Amino acid sequence: MEFANCVQNLKPEGAYHMLARAQALEAQGRDIIHLEIGQPDVPTFANVAQAGIQAIKDGHTTYNPPAGILPLRQAIAEDAGRRRGIDVHPSQVVVGPGAKPILFFPTLALVRPGDEVLYPDPGFPTYAAVIDVAGGVPVPVPLREETGFAFDLDAFDQLVSDQTRLVILNSPSNPTGGVLSWAMLEHIAAAAHKHDFWVLSDEIYARLAFDGLAAPSIAALPGMRERTVICDGFSKTYAMTGWRLGYGIMPQALAEHMNLLLTHSVGCTATFTQYAGIEALTGPQAAVEAVVAEYQRRRDVLVTALNAIPGVQCQMPRGAFYTFPNVTAFGRSAEWLADYLLDAAGVAVLPGTAFGPGGEGYLRLCFANSMENIRSGVARIADALGRLD
Ligand code: PLP
Repeated sequence: MEFANCVQNLKPEGAYHMLARAQALEAQGRDIIHLEIGQPDVPTFANVAQAGIQAIKDGHTTYNPPAGILPLRQAIAEDAGRRRGIDVHPSQVVVGPGAKPILFFPTLALVRPGDEVLYPDPGFPTYAAVIDVAGGVPVPVPLREETGFAFDLDAFDQLVSDQTRLVILNSPSNPTGGVLSWAMLEHIAAAAHKHDFWVLSDEIYARLAFDGLAAPSIAALPGMRERTVICDGFSKTYAMTGWRLGYGIMPQALAEHMNLLLTHSVGCTATFTQYAGIEALTGPQAAVEAVVAEYQRRRDVLVTALNAIPGVQCQMPRGAFYTFPNVTAFGRSAEWLADYLLDAAGVAVLPGTAFGPGGEGYLRLCFANSMENIRSGVARIADALGRLD
């Protein structure tokens, strides 16, 4: 059967693939610890869930504008002002069903066939997928352990050119937990002005930064608002992965194209979900703070336990909820090791290569999981790795 070029190279997301394998083993009665999927293990905060339920009761179950309801876009604009230090008008805010459409549609709207797009490797697999669908030329920029897994500016300088149309950033990063500093962002912003490219800044983990760190946004730098799309959402911060609610902040001219793309693809985002989003942003934030503090405790336990395993070297992630340990000492591919740990230890983790070739030699473990699962998961991993010759 023949299919269009734009879908020929699409691959499944590694996390879903591993989840399916783990669930198949569970169906056979195996006890599996899930450290593969990247989602909070806590339920949606009660006040937020209640706002969604109330919105359904109030009849907010009809179509709404493709770019989202005005009160939510206003709440997002105000939140961006407070947290990111940028002045945003609601007409620059576009709401979508999850953050993924805010990666997909701006890339479609900006990238013409043959345009080069720089993106992190290892990085969230949707970046490579959407560059491909748009007909862009993928230019992976390595994230290196030696530079804190944030961004390799030397490699970036070599790869960026007048052919660069878009640079995708992700800070804090999935899968590495790296955070880009102001100095790095200033360097990239200077290149954006020189080579006239756009930035798609995936900031979905911005609230999940540890040790009191704040992950800065490149959009706050002078002259960058005009060429930056911020992608953010509610999935990770407010434990709302299944509600499907994300948003973008971008120049109004691009927002208008996004509006049309949403009109003709999804129509609009669920209305009651957006009311839950208003409560998430404007209601009490104590639950977010508590959960971030708890993730930090879990991170510390996981990193310490991983580093105690002979042959494993794990950096301290500064944000998001993933560790990315170096397992090159075992002399096997990351994929082989992930399969081995599932079969031999009953622990589902992702091979770093699920995030691009730059992830070879690494595994990704999510610590948005109970302390008990983290402790017994690593104990099982240590035991299984200890049995390797
Ligand atoms: N960006 C990154 C870096 C992610 O890790 C994820 C989800 O895992 C997304 C975007 C997509 O988020 P959503 O589930 O809101 O579409």
